[in-house]
Amino acid sequence: MPVTEIKLRFVKAFIVENNKGETILVDAGTPGSGKKLREVLEQRGVLNRLRAVVFTHSHGDHIGGAPELGLKVPLLIHEDGEKFLREGRWRKPVIHSRLYRVGFSLLSLFMKDDGRPLQSVEKLKEGEIIEGVNVIYTPGHTSDSVTLHLPHENVVIVGDTLQGTGSGLRLPVIYEDKDQLLESVRRIASLNPQFVYVSHGTSGKPRWPDEIK
Ligand SMILES: [Zn+2]
Ligand SMILES: [Zn+2]
Repeated sequence: MPVTEIKLRFVKAFIVENNKGETILVDAGTPGSGKKLREVLEQRGVLNRLRAVVFTHSHGDHIGGAPELGLKVPLLIHEDGEKFLREGRWRKPVIHSRLYRVGFSLLSLFMKDDGRPLQSVEKLKEGEIIEGVNVIYTPGHTSDSVTLHLPHENVVIVGDTLQGTGSGLRLPVIYEDKDQLLESVRRIASLNPQFVYVSHGTSGKPRWPDEIK
């Protein structure tokens, strides 16, 4: 089940194809990214084999491009994020760094939720299997964060639950609940994945943050 990273502005999206050719898109980037993603899906010839879009959580850099996708497949998000996606709003990030707060307020000048409501939004549940991909509920960064586990390859797509640096994985400075975040990262680590795909920074073989040890 190959995973393809698609680099967008500030963030990545992912295409997962199972061995039957069925495909899911993971996340939709910031506003403006949806069109590009649709083009990528078309170029790869997987648009008509796309079964669902799965969102790792409801921050604007992950669901912002969703209205532009114009896809007729289910849009799947954890129940805590459902209302945001459905109503075309974004979850406000809880930022634990003054520098990031300044950066985010600057970014917010250019990037706003425009309240475009979406149809075909469905709830994603812990333990659900979407075209061979396992959904694991990993709250902490947000209360609606999920991790996707591909059991055969034993790789995970963690969204923003972890960030990638050249020297390993680190915890995000944006989180709603630190204890939950640590618990979720421990749970991901307990799967012993061979590879960790992150939405921000460098994906790679995991080197876990010291905080979870
Ligand atoms: Zn986020
Ligand atoms: Zn993000």
